[in-house]
Amino acid sequence: MIEVNQLGKSFGDLVVFRDINLHIRSREIVVLVGPSGSGKSTLLRCLNGLEEPDAGSIRIGDAAWDASMDAASKKQAIRHIRTLTGMVFQSFNLFPHMTALENVIMAPTIVKKMHQKQAVEIGESLLAKVGLLNKKNEYPSRLSGGQQQRVAIARALAMQPQMMLFDEPTSALDPELTGEVLSVMKQLAAEGMTMIVVTHEMKFAREAANRVIFMSDGKIQEEGAPEQFFVQPQTERARKFLRQIE
Ligand code: ATP
Ligand code: MG
Repeated sequence: MIEVNQLGKSFGDLVVFRDINLHIRSREIVVLVGPSGSGKSTLLRCLNGLEEPDAGSIRIGDAAWDASMDAASKKQAIRHIRTLTGMVFQSFNLFPHMTALENVIMAPTIVKKMHQKQAVEIGESLLAKVGLLNKKNEYPSRLSGGQQQRVAIARALAMQPQMMLFDEPTSALDPELTGEVLSVMKQLAAEGMTMIVVTHEMKFAREAANRVIFMSDGKIQEEGAPEQFFVQPQTERARKFLRQIE
């Protein structure tokens, strides 16, 4: 599903990561953890084409990006990758002047040129899926944080991505609203969506993840099944990290 080889990304002199190798199977749920500044968001942004890596290669489905490609091919590859991956951010990033439904159907109508009627049908079914069909005509300012984030998930799903990337989707939410977002994510996982989730929600990681990947100092330091990683981390770095977030 996803194959990342020798991926590297720097900002000027700052090497965020290098030599990242990652293989994620279809339907796999991977939780990505690591200290602040370790490059988790940058890695997700590279996998969604929001940031361009400077070394290595990425293959997602039938889209392939390689640092050695010419500029035009890279651009095309990034555009392709973007259509295959849906991303959900910590800050919900909904369009404030659009209703929940309009937010969800915007990309399919504009990017995919889908007919309004079909887009509305899909949009309504996605809002129903995240439990918000009754809020379809509300503007984001009249929705709770948890509801806004669920609309953001529906919006990402509207492009029918093959994979979903979540960057701390519940970090901006009050604890009582976190559960409703995590349960939508668990439902997606159960339906077979391939997902990479950056989160500090260890309960979610234990219950939903097939694998935990620990990033630190620009590298993947350790990876394993959640029960193994949380109970018996192999590296001192991971042990230190886990002590800090407990
Ligand atoms: P956090 O847990 O705090 O979200 P993170 O693991 O997601 O951290 P990143 O946001 O990926 O970390 O940042 C990795 C490093 O890259 C940091 O040192 C950050 O300052 C730097 N960085 C990120 N984006 C940019 C940018 N656009 N320009 C310059 N430096 C950047
Ligand atoms: Mg981050």
